[in-house]
Amino acid sequence: MALLVQKFGGTSVADAACMRRVAERIREARIAGNDVVVVVSAMGGTTDELMRLAHAVNPRPDEREMDMLLASGEQISVALLAMALHALGVEAVSMTGRQAGIRTDSVHTKARIREVKPERIFRNLREGRVVIVAGFQGETPSEDIATLGRGGSDTTAVALAAVLKADRCQIFTDVDGVYTADPRVVPDARRLDEMAFDEMLELASLGAKVLQARAVEFAKKFGVELEVLSSFGDRPGTIVREEVSDMEEIVVRGVAADKEQAKITLQSVPDRPGVAARVFRELAAADVNVDMIVQNVSEDGHTDISCTVSTEDLGRARRAMEAIAGQVDARGVTYDEAIAKVSIVGVGMRSHSGVAYRMFNALAEHGVNIEMISTSEIKISVVVRRERADESVRVLHEAFGLAG
Ligand code: ADP
Ligand code: ASP
Ligand code: MG
Repeated sequence: MALLVQKFGGTSVADAACMRRVAERIREARIAGNDVVVVVSAMGGTTDELMRLAHAVNPRPDEREMDMLLASGEQISVALLAMALHALGVEAVSMTGRQAGIRTDSVHTKARIREVKPERIFRNLREGRVVIVAGFQGETPSEDIATLGRGGSDTTAVALAAVLKADRCQIFTDVDGVYTADPRVVPDARRLDEMAFDEMLELASLGAKVLQARAVEFAKKFGVELEVLSSFGDRPGTIVREEVSDMEEIVVRGVAADKEQAKITLQSVPDRPGVAARVFRELAAADVNVDMIVQNVSEDGHTDISCTVSTEDLGRARRAMEAIAGQVDARGVTYDEAIAKVSIVGVGMRSHSGVAYRMFNALAEHGVNIEMISTSEIKISVVVRRERADESVRVLHEAFGLAG
């Protein structure tokens, strides 16, 4: 008998009919002789709506209360799915993150899973039940509810698969696998049969939200092979694992865009040792993740320092920057929220040259201006105007011959 962890995202449980369809699929897995642990997200749109409500009553909602609010979305889904299974005659029990033994750190709204105590899940499996766990949440050391960041149900599923030593971890979503680019943006994007953890991790971190980056990190660390597949069809999905065939031959595996980025520029700061260290120390202290950094050529002993941050961190970055500007004698700070980061990813870049040239040239031919650049061994990212992000993704997808 195999143990399956099956995760269903928001669109897969968007309404009663979807819930019944998911219940039917779970029943099939039971009839086939499997033990099944299910992880569900809030019903599609619920988390966004709850966030909107929070901001309507307070522009800077307290993060503990935010977690209390957001976790309720998943609690609705697990209970409804349990009821849908009961209606089909399948024994099932729903659990919150805490009841499922998921313990996190104390960082509200982007907590990390520290530990899973699986006894209660195992007991229920032994007693013949499907266990339905609320995704995206756990309990902090001070017994508060914490959430795991947007898309965090993926991470719940992978963590449970690792701890329960599941035979398979299936991520059911509204697309039938991982594509060479977001199929909503690039209609001729190609579905990949398999891909390597490292590539998936980069794509997810760079904006391909089909999997939460942390879920992939976790899967790599604990060797949990993932399958991403559609909850609406029956086709096999994309397998994400350590090694895949033809890894080195394919130069670019995929293209991603992240539109939730902003650029901050500290203008005209004195060009002397210690200034950059001070700026980035303060940003780190404010819990801001800085991504790209550019320092301009010095003129008259002064320079501009620009960096990108996610829009989620922008409020905290702003407050920190305003304080720093005075301390380091900067002329001022500017913010640009009309940017996006567009990236190409592929393990094969390690062994091929000329990839950056091809990327920059393709964008230049379409008149797309590159404002910042960063590279690593297996990715190249550029900052462009946000309104040109989708076009840039299509241009790069075409330039690297990724279409099916
Ligand atoms: P769920 O609610 O099931 O977690 P998400 O909306 O979080 O689903 O993720 C699925 C979406 O990810 C797809 O609808 C698709 O638009 C988007 N996506 C972005 N990049 C990719 C990619 N490279 N391959 C597949 N889907 C992608
Ligand atoms: N409901 C949460 C979100 O919308 C978590 C998830 O869906 O994975 O981000
Ligand atoms: Mg998701």
